[in-house]
Amino acid sequence: MTSATSRAQQSVPFSRPVVAPETGPAVERVLRSGWLTTGPECAAFEEELAAWLEVPHAVTVASCTAAIEIAFRGLRLPRDAKVLVPAVTFCGAVEAVRHAGLVPVVADVEPDTGTVSPRTCAAAAREAGGVQAMLALHFAGYPADVAALAEAAGLTLDQVVEDAAHALGTRVGAELVGGLSRATCFSFYATKNLPIGEGGALTTRDEEVAAQARVTRLHGMTSDAWRRYLPGGSWQYSVEEAGVKANLSDVHAAIGRAQLRHLDAWQVRRHQIAGRYAAGLADVPGLVLPTDPETGEHAWHLYVVRVTPESGVTRDDLSRLLAERGIGTSVHFIPLHHFPHFRDICVVPSGGLPGADAVFAETLSLPLHQGLADEDVDIVVDALHELAPGTTSTMNRYQEALP
Ligand SMILES: *Cc1c(COP(=O)(O)O)cnc(C)c1O
Repeated sequence: MTSATSRAQQSVPFSRPVVAPETGPAVERVLRSGWLTTGPECAAFEEELAAWLEVPHAVTVASCTAAIEIAFRGLRLPRDAKVLVPAVTFCGAVEAVRHAGLVPVVADVEPDTGTVSPRTCAAAAREAGGVQAMLALHFAGYPADVAALAEAAGLTLDQVVEDAAHALGTRVGAELVGGLSRATCFSFYATKNLPIGEGGALTTRDEEVAAQARVTRLHGMTSDAWRRYLPGGSWQYSVEEAGVKANLSDVHAAIGRAQLRHLDAWQVRRHQIAGRYAAGLADVPGLVLPTDPETGEHAWHLYVVRVTPESGVTRDDLSRLLAERGIGTSVHFIPLHHFPHFRDICVVPSGGLPGADAVFAETLSLPLHQGLADEDVDIVVDALHELAPGTTSTMNRYQEALP
């Protein structure tokens, strides 16, 4: 059996992209339009996305990873300037920092939240002799207090780039993630909250940051092809510094526009699923559930639990046993210092990253996507009740608590 067929046979896949019915006709329209690369659809998607995020500027790009690299290049820091990054994040985000010519300085995560805190940011920045910028992550969609993290690292918000790959719909306090810092980077990868397949966007309140990102995303050319071919357009352009090739195609933008119309409903569904997990899993021994933030809003990109020893099962065994029942899970993320490449290129605190190591041993992401039915959630909940029986001591505690 190939891995593709075994995935297809999973009764509850970890993730499956939902594609809105309007997507097909939208793609068809672009394919017939005579314009396939970055053009009017990207411009329209940028406007609609900016409106949804309540931010003045959105710049479409090929991926969130590209958006992060473009955002850091835009800071124009000296080569090998230091950038604070979380120990538990996606490898590509940190590769982007390196591709921008900068050195990642790793901040540990708190074992109870799995995210960096002002304490760990301040400690990592201090040991590195100061940092010039920061990549902040809203892990799983949980709002990070970006202002507090920046302050702890001795930075202003203009020196912060947000990795919002999980945070489409996250609110920090009353404010949607998208305009809190210098630049915010979103992903439209197949598993993310707004799936296009591939794609990303950089959003900002700063007109200059947006203008510069438009130039950097297409080889550093000061005028893109669509503008040059517009009536009255000129073939002229300049290149003043190196850019990257990371523009989005109009075909992708058309998919994004069709999908965006469903995003509000999809976010409601994600909240419902998280609520159903919370209610169903509350009494599974040793399973620590994610919480709703006290202020702001969770985007519920991931539902990440911790499988503690009191569950009576290890994370690895639980993941395997769930897979045998056709339930897909994942681990977000393997900490950076577990990879040879990042041990090579990153500054890691001398005391190691004990918070990240502790979280990594126990973390497990359950299926969460907008297409999940209540029955799917219940299959996962029932399986976890069976497979995490608790230890003798948790069983005793449970029985003592019975009436
Ligand atoms: C998915 C993801 C990215 C990368 O997104 P791409 O659009 O695939 O480049 C970056 N950071 C985090 C935390 C992610 O989960």
